[in-house]
Amino acid sequence: MKLFSFWTDNYPRPADLSVAVELPTEVDVAIIGGGYTGLSAARTLAKSGASVAVLERETIGLGASSRNAGITGCGLKRGTPAVFERYGEAYGRVFWQASLDALKLVEELATEEGIGCDWQQNGDLAVAFKPSHFEAFKTKQVWHKKHLGHELRLISPDELRTEIGSDAFFGGLLDDHGAGIHPAKLVFGLAEVAAKSGAQLFENAAVTRIEKLASGFILHTERGVLRANEVVMATNGYTERLVPKLKPRIFAGGSYSIVTEPLSQDLQHEISPRGRIFWDSKWFLNYFRLTPDGRLLWGGRNNLSTNLDLSESTQQLRAGMLRAFPQLADVAVTHTWTGQLGLTFDLMPHIGRVENIHYALGYGGHGLHTALWLGHELAQMLTGEKTSSPFAEISHQTYPFYRNDPWFLPLAALYYRIKDRLS
Ligand SMILES: Cc1cc2nc3c(=O)[nH]c(=O)nc-3n(C[C@H](O)[C@H](O)[C@H](O)COP(=O)(O)OP(=O)(O)OC[C@H]3O[C@@H](n4cnc5c(N)ncnc54)[C@H](O)[C@@H]3O)c2cc1C
Repeated sequence: MKLFSFWTDNYPRPADLSVAVELPTEVDVAIIGGGYTGLSAARTLAKSGASVAVLERETIGLGASSRNAGITGCGLKRGTPAVFERYGEAYGRVFWQASLDALKLVEELATEEGIGCDWQQNGDLAVAFKPSHFEAFKTKQVWHKKHLGHELRLISPDELRTEIGSDAFFGGLLDDHGAGIHPAKLVFGLAEVAAKSGAQLFENAAVTRIEKLASGFILHTERGVLRANEVVMATNGYTERLVPKLKPRIFAGGSYSIVTEPLSQDLQHEISPRGRIFWDSKWFLNYFRLTPDGRLLWGGRNNLSTNLDLSESTQQLRAGMLRAFPQLADVAVTHTWTGQLGLTFDLMPHIGRVENIHYALGYGGHGLHTALWLGHELAQMLTGEKTSSPFAEISHQTYPFYRNDPWFLPLAALYYRIKDRLS
């Protein structure tokens, strides 16, 4: 079994990716992090004529952006009713619209920018892990119709077999907007578009220190130094203490995935007859889908740790997969891997500025469309095309006594496990 992401095994970083070698002396904007956020910001900034350097510690996309499940849809990590409750109806609508705009941006990148990333919009189906969760789906359906005019379709337990080849669930809730993509093709394609627009991309260029000048910054990197008028942190779940006041606003959670060998056409059709992508209704949810080459990807976690042993996570994930799909008992698992999500204490993504350094992060497991959108929107704020963003207007909480070590993770995991048991 391979202990690294299926996606980059299936579609490795192109050897001729347009990366630069010599750091420029000075740029308008230096972006730290070469995933969806950083590259999306770089694309928008470069198109507006700004000089941009993206500085990536590893190779392009090697953070979460080439390891995720490639599942995208409407909404944010924090459920829309909870967003309405916390921020009020007017803001709630703005955040909902932002999530639709974000989804549109993924589609535009896939179609108008010509990034071949296997974009397939066949809808996403949430499946009820317990009968009580199906009751919650009914409430959610009515709520979305009433407050947003957004149609979700209830799939009764009797009808479920027309949507998914499993008897483990108690009904479903279908959203036609859900889509799947190939995450590695998206991140490498986006890098190419950003480079063609004029951004310079640097790999193996960890930023080790940021020196503040009276005006601007000097960035010390593994490739040398460069001066920048503005700095953007696009490091999400890989944020360290480079900017000390940023670290307490974000913490990393691990997410784990396995992929099977390619399934027969019959099994593929049985598991997802309409090509849906799926997740279940637990707090510690499982997400799953067929890959473009017909394997089953199954992901999730049952704690928030970032360093779970991969053989242990493989066993747990495979057991969950077989509970849902016992027909896969003889199918081999070929890949197992993990990556880090960036989580915030209010479960909202944020754009902000600390120590005069800009940032966009905190997407939870919903970072595909939101990372692309927040990178783009932050860039528009830097060029003056937008004066603000709703993600910059809400307050960004920290947590008592959290500076570097997320001491609260085991407690948070226990809390969510209890919620799962009691729900
Ligand atoms: C296993 C897994 C499954 C997921 N599935 C989904 C999904 O199906 N749908 C969805 O919407 N979201 C999903 N996500 C979340 C999504 O992948 C992320 O939210 C998104 O990729 C974040 O993009 P980013 O560019 O902000 O961060 P990343 O892609 O993580 O990039 C951050 C980069 O910053 C770099 N970096 C850090 N420090 C420095 C430094 N000092 N100098 C230079 N570079 C630095 C890192 O090397 C890293 O490459 C998943 C995440 C994981 C881990």
